[in-house]
Amino acid sequence: MSGTAPVAPTGAGGAGPRRPVRAAIGLGANLGDAAGRLREAFDRIDAIADTRVLARSGLWRSAPIEARGPDFHNAVAIVETRLDAFSLLEALRRIEDDAGRERPYRNAPRTLDLDLLLYGDARIDAPPRLVVPHPRMAGRAFVLRPLLEVAPDATIPGIGPAAGQVDALAGQRADPV
Ligand code: ADP
Ligand code: MG
Repeated sequence: MSGTAPVAPTGAGGAGPRRPVRAAIGLGANLGDAAGRLREAFDRIDAIADTRVLARSGLWRSAPIEARGPDFHNAVAIVETRLDAFSLLEALRRIEDDAGRERPYRNAPRTLDLDLLLYGDARIDAPPRLVVPHPRMAGRAFVLRPLLEVAPDATIPGIGPAAGQVDALAGQRADPV
């Protein structure tokens, strides 16, 4: 992402204190009080150790893609973190679990889904555990629209400016709530 603080070395771990990295997190929910859950999730993300939320997008509403159930609510948080990407993902997973997330089958409806979209300008290829940039983000209006709301200059490493991707997705419904 452009306009960021100095970016830590690409990849996982590394000993010693890390310089803060700016990361983007995608939030989604389509069960129960989805909007309330997303608002709460922003606060939980802000409470992750060595991490603070710099910007919260508004809430967006989208039809499920490759998933089932009611409409999704989506949002994006920009954070500054000293955690490495794997630790940040673990912290997000704990927040999902606390929200009662169950994984009965792939693409099941979810109470809360937190995806690591961007981690500085890093490209991390450690499937299935972690792939950054999130491999499907560039094709999803419900990710790009809230991302551009809070980070209009965001760049997707290996792809290019996020703003250049969104026009092709005009057919996907994603509306501000
Ligand atoms: P979805 O792909 O619909 O978000 P899940 O949230 O259940 O599905 O994630 C499935 C797995 O994807 C997780 O176990 C996680 O380790 C892995 N994963 C790989 N890359 C990422 C990423 N960038 N952000 C979040 N999860 C990721
Ligand atoms: Mg996920």
